[in-house]
Amino acid sequence: MNFHGAKFVLKHRLSTGDFKFRHYQLVLRLATIAFRHYLSRLMEKVVIIGSGCAGWTAALYSARANLQPLVLTGKQPGGLLTTTSLVENYPGFPEGVDGHELMTRMQKQAERFGARASFGIVEKVDFSKRPFALTVDGERVEAQTVIIATGASHRHLGVPGEDLLETKGVTFCATCDGALPLFRNQPLVVVGGGDSACEEALYLTRFGSVIHLIHRRDKLRASKIMAERVHAHKTIKLVWDSVVTEVLDPKRDKVTGVKLKNLKTGAETVLDCAGVFVAIGHSPSTEIFKGQIEMDANGYIIPRKGTMTNVPGVFVAGDCADHIYRQAVTAAGAGCAAAIDAERFLAAQDQ
Ligand code: NAP
Repeated sequence: MNFHGAKFVLKHRLSTGDFKFRHYQLVLRLATIAFRHYLSRLMEKVVIIGSGCAGWTAALYSARANLQPLVLTGKQPGGLLTTTSLVENYPGFPEGVDGHELMTRMQKQAERFGARASFGIVEKVDFSKRPFALTVDGERVEAQTVIIATGASHRHLGVPGEDLLETKGVTFCATCDGALPLFRNQPLVVVGGGDSACEEALYLTRFGSVIHLIHRRDKLRASKIMAERVHAHKTIKLVWDSVVTEVLDPKRDKVTGVKLKNLKTGAETVLDCAGVFVAIGHSPSTEIFKGQIEMDANGYIIPRKGTMTNVPGVFVAGDCADHIYRQAVTAAGAGCAAAIDAERFLAAQDQ
């Protein structure tokens, strides 16, 4: 007889006046409660998707609240900051700090209080009911609350040659690839006009013979201090009002140059170079949540109450919900807030 069968027989006997089974009913009820409690303990209280500044700060706070959070790191553990050489605007580091080191420290700090990291990639989520179900590398993970901290990924130019020559001269990270032999003492191109593009260009001055910074307007979007450094550097040449229309030359299986179009004059030119570093911003990494969570037209998740999304029990923090500030420190702050919100949510559910 299975569990439900036993319950039925007991109920039947009691209803027909067989009172000697009354204490069995009590035992059965207690067993059911204990079993449910055991199941809820097997289930994760807090699962954090993403391991950038937002993710690890959420992990730190929920670990200190004794919730033993599980951090699913995704395919880029530590997030985008690990691709930055020197972070100069994170408070507490007057000399700046290496992006990779900062993230390693955040992880260690959270793990000290009981956070657990899993190098899994979330393939699917089901937020239609609680407990929430996540498919992680084919395995099912159940969670009472989820904090989405998936961050953002590099935006692509979308021009011919870009994809075909990725890793063959086209790259999205100067810190990762700038020192490669194919870029040494060669003319290089950086595309973009924000802080990232300026940072990439400045970093590449160590390796390239000349760095052409291609920007579609005639004024940098970057912060004043970064723009000033770029303007002052003699190895960086600014190419204004221009866009890359093609990366050459897939037939030779390497980058030999870029086709440029001047947006003011319409003139088309070819600029020789050995590498193209694309730094034109980021897109939120929220593809797997489409249809499950409310987001705007650009894919940024919209928090409703604090960090809670339109699904009670699902929280969001960092660049996947922030297209305005996008700073390491604001992501960390949002991660802290999401952890506190999740903790209060669980407390209100009496779990
Ligand atoms: P961003 O500020 O959004 O700048 C993106 C740049 O790419 C803009 O100049 C934009 O041109 C250009 N762009 C966008 N799409 C383009 C396209 N299809 N073709 C050509 N150009 C295109 O992005 P970000 O530089 O990655 O910076 C993101 C955030 O991180 C910012 O808040 C920034 O301050 C911060 N950050 C800080 C540091 C630092 O302090 N060390 C370093 C990196 C990033 P328009 O200007 O015409 O829009």
